[in-house]
Amino acid sequence: MSATPRTALTIAGSDSGGGAGIQADLRTFFACGVHGMTAITAVTVQNSLGVQGFAEIDAETVTAQIKAVAGDMGVHAAKTGMLATAEIIGAVAKTLDEVHIGRDADVPFVLDPVAASMHGDALLREEALEAIRTELFPRASLVTPNLDEVRLLTGLLVTDAESQRAAANALLEFGPQWVLVKGGHMYDDPRCVDLLSDGVQYVELDGPRHETEHTHGGGDTLASAITASLAKGLGVPDAVAAGKRFIERAVAESYPLGAGIGPVSPFWRLAPETP
Ligand code: PLP
Repeated sequence: MSATPRTALTIAGSDSGGGAGIQADLRTFFACGVHGMTAITAVTVQNSLGVQGFAEIDAETVTAQIKAVAGDMGVHAAKTGMLATAEIIGAVAKTLDEVHIGRDADVPFVLDPVAASMHGDALLREEALEAIRTELFPRASLVTPNLDEVRLLTGLLVTDAESQRAAANALLEFGPQWVLVKGGHMYDDPRCVDLLSDGVQYVELDGPRHETEHTHGGGDTLASAITASLAKGLGVPDAVAAGKRFIERAVAESYPLGAGIGPVSPFWRLAPETP
């Protein structure tokens, strides 16, 4: 018998293609050595060519999943991904308070403000963006938007270090403790520079840009790796640095699958032992 591991909860959608969403989160939690638990918010129909549609789960069932695991198994850190509707977002916000998860509780909460897939397919009903801003940002220990999500949430275009800093400041106005403005979509930058800030510290995390189109699930994998490190007790800056190292390897070892965009590979730590 092994010792009881630390636990991480993902509140997110299923990707039938297995590369993003709940599937990416669980693979990452496992690879990072924490026990992963799930509250599924929606079931997407998708493959490497895009999202063909999704059906959301009713808000009561989302709430019940969170309460079931939090009440019995305990949660050391949580993250949200695809939340689909304003109703689910409202239910998640209320439930996080009830089970004491969030920036003002002991349990860190990472908000990945997922709005659309890389193909541009919507993963959030239009009216739900405002609910993410008002109901989840103030509860988040860390928010991890990419540049498309920054534009949707603030109206700001990020093209360089200065506008990335302005975006961080604008997002902090919505009340999270920390924000990570991911620079991965600044394609003319030969490096991949993310900016982490709590309004006092501004930390640039500089990494290589890997020339691959197969980055499906990259955002989910980064947020999950950060959440796993938070579950293990790291503070936000150290957890983000560890997450950045993890996603760099997962992108370096991504693979083609299907006719479209293949997934990043969160199993890189296990690769040497795998036949
Ligand atoms: N499907 C689900 C369920 C997701 O949660 C996400 C991203 O968060 C995606 C698809 C899109 O992934 P990508 O933008 O990497 O294609």
